[in-house]
Parts: sequence; structure tokens; C-alpha cells
Amino acid sequence: MLDLTNPKRIAIIGGGTAGWFAALTFRRLFSPAVEVTLIEAPEIPIIGVGEGGLINLVDGLIRNNIAIDDFIQSTGATYKFGFLYEGWRGGGREDVFYHLFGGANIPEFEWLQDGCFPLLSARIAAGLPLHSCIPFFEAIARHAPQAEMRELLLTGKYGRPASFHFDAHRVATFLRTTAQARGVVHRSARVEQFILDEQGYTRTLRLDGDMLEVDFVIDASGLARIGIDKTYHAPWCSFADFLLPDSAMPFHLPKAQENPALVTRSTSMRSGWMWQIPLQERVGGGYVFSSQHTDAATAQAEVEAYLGHRVEPKRVLRYNAGYFEKVWINNVMALGLASGFVEPLEATSIGLMLEQLRNLERLLANGGGIISGRAIDEFNTGISKSWTGIRDFLRLHYDCPRDDTPFWRDVAASPLPRDYAELWQCFQRRTPRMCDIEPYEGSGWQGIFYMINWIFVAAPLGVIPPAAALAELNRLPSADRIKVNAYLKQVMGG
Ligand SMILES: Cc1cc2nc3c(=O)[nH]c(=O)nc-3n(C[C@H](O)[C@H](O)[C@H](O)COP(=O)(O)OP(=O)(O)OC[C@H]3O[C@@H](n4cnc5c(N)ncnc54)[C@H](O)[C@@H]3O)c2cc1C
Repeated sequence: MLDLTNPKRIAIIGGGTAGWFAALTFRRLFSPAVEVTLIEAPEIPIIGVGEGGLINLVDGLIRNNIAIDDFIQSTGATYKFGFLYEGWRGGGREDVFYHLFGGANIPEFEWLQDGCFPLLSARIAAGLPLHSCIPFFEAIARHAPQAEMRELLLTGKYGRPASFHFDAHRVATFLRTTAQARGVVHRSARVEQFILDEQGYTRTLRLDGDMLEVDFVIDASGLARIGIDKTYHAPWCSFADFLLPDSAMPFHLPKAQENPALVTRSTSMRSGWMWQIPLQERVGGGYVFSSQHTDAATAQAEVEAYLGHRVEPKRVLRYNAGYFEKVWINNVMALGLASGFVEPLEATSIGLMLEQLRNLERLLANGGGIISGRAIDEFNTGISKSWTGIRDFLRLHYDCPRDDTPFWRDVAASPLPRDYAELWQCFQRRTPRMCDIEPYEGSGWQGIFYMINWIFVAAPLGVIPPAAALAELNRLPSADRIKVNAYLKQVMGG
């Protein structure tokens, strides 16, 4: 059992996005008598390559009483409506499909019957693109100005408040200013050691030049991972067998057009893929590649040939894809990059971090500050399930027809995670259902990706054959089939 009814100090290690969001959360949850201290090592920079959020970003800001307009103005964040996939089916630059967010109020998402979305199934069966059903798709595709998108969002037709592209450095600075104004204590110091009692609870942090007594610790130390990994040695679950890339080479690109694009662009490359995240003043780019299939110099040359100009990589980051099986041990919890990392194909890191904090807050509030060991075990199971869902959703992207290079042939020959292989079999007969996604959600956790997300990627990649969608439609009552046919006629202009 963990008793946080009367703590003196909550310590957060790390001043990146994860650390500052945690600081804001704890400052809100506890009375001013409880000290919330964030410690960051000035000589260890945060990660910031040009990031994109998921649909829970706005929720995370609102939960922390941050006005969205204030966030946009202070950080220069730009609207993000989803992802554009380029060349993943082996067709080069012309071969594109979109995975767009969107929610309630969109007719195609509103009609859910017998477990499926008949109007989306109708599009798949007829070989029509899914993305054109999203309101404002035309505006998204032509890179409409930010002000125009703001007005369109205010109509409510999009069904949810989109997400944002941003520079993590500017976001960390903004969150820091906000958190300090609310009373969070900031210390520039390096944490050198966790000092544990006989039960394995961290009681003191040894800093360079000081000792700090603590009641609870958030380890948001990024890839340094000084808590759950280096102190508690939690077991690591690797995704390396299923996701072949292991290196990321970020670079900056000039703006491609006057208005920032409204989607993250993910382009398949010879040995991986390239991201382009549009910011106000530049584009954050990078190549995620497999070091078994290319090296940094060749990867750079490939990017330059593709873009038609030189790029200057900031560095090459080697990583292990995976997560720690237990992120919460005794009174220490890993958050953000300290808890795991996977390639930024669907921009999952900050989204998962916010969902983890939402759950921590739920448990602390619900348990009145007293948390049972069983609840902590469930929490760890919940985040493991989320990670497994992320692994399988990313693996779906690689389940694509491209096979023209050694990397893509090795991807095709690599094993499928058992859970994904099961889903694949189901998708040959019907579209993704809630019962497919539920096993990725722990008790009280919200999924990171929903049925719609799976459908928007699986259908264009051919993982859901049109015949499977047709079979699903044929099982509907005849009155509904008539509605579906009328819809198709209208979409096809007949
Ligand atoms: C190539 C790449 C692309 C990415 N793209 C996306 C994306 O599109 N979307 C998304 O959601 N996420 C993305 N991410 C992840 C995202 O950058 C991070 O999740 C996010 O910035 C939060 O990082 P963090 O706070 O966990 O760690 P960091 O930003 O790395 O911060 C770590 C902090 O810990 C401190 N620290 C370390 N050791 C010590 C110590 N001993 N004592 C005191 N302080 C210490 C450092 O000083 C620093 O302040 C990407 C990551 C990479 C690498």
C-alpha cells in the first residue's frame, strides 16, 4: 500500500514535456502545503525534434487549466488533423492516404451498428477513400490558414478539437513558466542517486551537492532512465523483433509553403520512413531507419535526393523500441521517455504520457491518496496493454505491399506479434471492432487508438479487403442495406 495522504514533498526528475505536465498535475492535486519540486540537470538537454500530439493533447491542457489560445500563442503550436502517408504501398509520391482524426458529429462515425460503421464499410467495399468523409478535408488538403481552421473547428462539425504540432522546447518553456507561477519549485541539479529504505521505497535523492527527502518520485529523466531502469531494474519488453527501425536522424527543413501543413507527413523510404512535422517557422524532419539496412551517410544522401536539397542532421539517435513492464514500483513512477520509446510513426509518446497521468490522477483522487499494491499492479498492466496496442497498431503500418528494397523485404518476412496476427485474420472477414481494441485497454484506461484509427490505416493498406467489408454489409438488415446504397449513390454523385 502507498499512503500519500500527507506527503511533504513530491519530486519530479526531468524538465521535458513529461516532467512539466507531471508537475502541473501534482500541483493541482495537492494542497500548497505539499512541496512539488522539479529537478533538471542543466547539462542534459531535453528531446525536442518537432513533435505532434494525439487527440488527448487538448484534454491534457484543459485538465491542467491551460487556455488553448494561450498555449497556441505562447508555443507557436499549429493545428494537426492527423497524418499523411506517402509511398507506403510502393507507389512513390503519388501514392498517398490520410489517417485523420475526427469524432462525433461526422455521419460516417455516428452510425455504428452491429459493431461496425456501415458507411465506412460501404466506402471500403466500393474502393472509395475514407479520408474524404472528414469535414474540411478539402481545407486540410490545401493547407488552409490557421485562422480558417479555427473558424471551421468552431462550427462543431469536425466533432473534436484537433491536436497540435509543436516544438517540445517551446512547450517545456511554456509549461515551466506556468508551473512556476503556480508554485512548483524548480531546481537545476543532477540527481546522482536514489537512496532506498529496507522495503525498497525511495526516501532521499542525492543531488550534486545536496540531499532531498521525498515521498513520491516521478522519473521523467528521458532516455537517461535513472529511476525505474537504473535503480529498480524493471524488466524491459522489446519490440525489436516486430519493428525493425532502430535509429532516428532529425533535421530542420525550410517551410514548404506559406501556411503550415495540417497533417504530419510520413514518407516511406528505402530503409524506413521520413517524418515532416510542420511548425510556424520551419518543418521538423527526420529519417527513422534500420541500421541493419543503411547507415547515416547513405540515409542522409537518400533524404537529400528525395527533397532535392541538402539537409544538416542534428545527430543520429540509436534506440531500443519497447517499454518497461513496470513503470510504477513502490513510490517511484517512470513517465515519458523514461518509461519506454517507440518510433514516432503515430506520435504516441506524449499521448501515452498524458493518458498515464490521467490515470494516476484518477487513482489518487479515487483512492483518497491511499493506493493498494493491487491497484498499482493494475496500473502497470494497464500501461503494458497500451504499449502492446501501440506496437500492434504500428506493426499494421508495416503490413504494407512495399517490397522493392532489402529493408521492406525483411519487414515482410519479419514475424507478426501474436495478437496482431489474430486481428489480421479477423480483418480478412470484417472491419476492426471494439472487441478487437478492448484487450489493449486496462481497467480505467482509455485506448490510445480506436476502431476508426485502425480502419483508416488498415483499409488503404489493403489489410481489410473490400470483400470483407462487403460481407459485413451483406449481414445487415435489408432496410439498412438500402440506406447504405443510397449513401454510396450520393457519394459517387449518382
Ligand atoms: C526522433 C523523435 C521523434 C519524436 N516525435 C514525437 C512525436 O511526434 N510526438 C510525440 O508525442 N513524441 C515524440 N517524441 C517523443 C517526445 O520527444 C518526448 O516524449 C517528449 O519530448 C517528452 O520527453 P521527456 O520529457 O520524457 O524527456 P526529455 O525531453 O528527454 O527530458 C529529460 C529531462 O531529464 C533531465 N535529466 C536526465 N537525467 C537527469 C538527472 N540525472 N538529474 C536531473 N535531471 C535529469 C534532463 O535534463 C531533461 O530535462 C519523439 C522523440 C524522438 C526521439
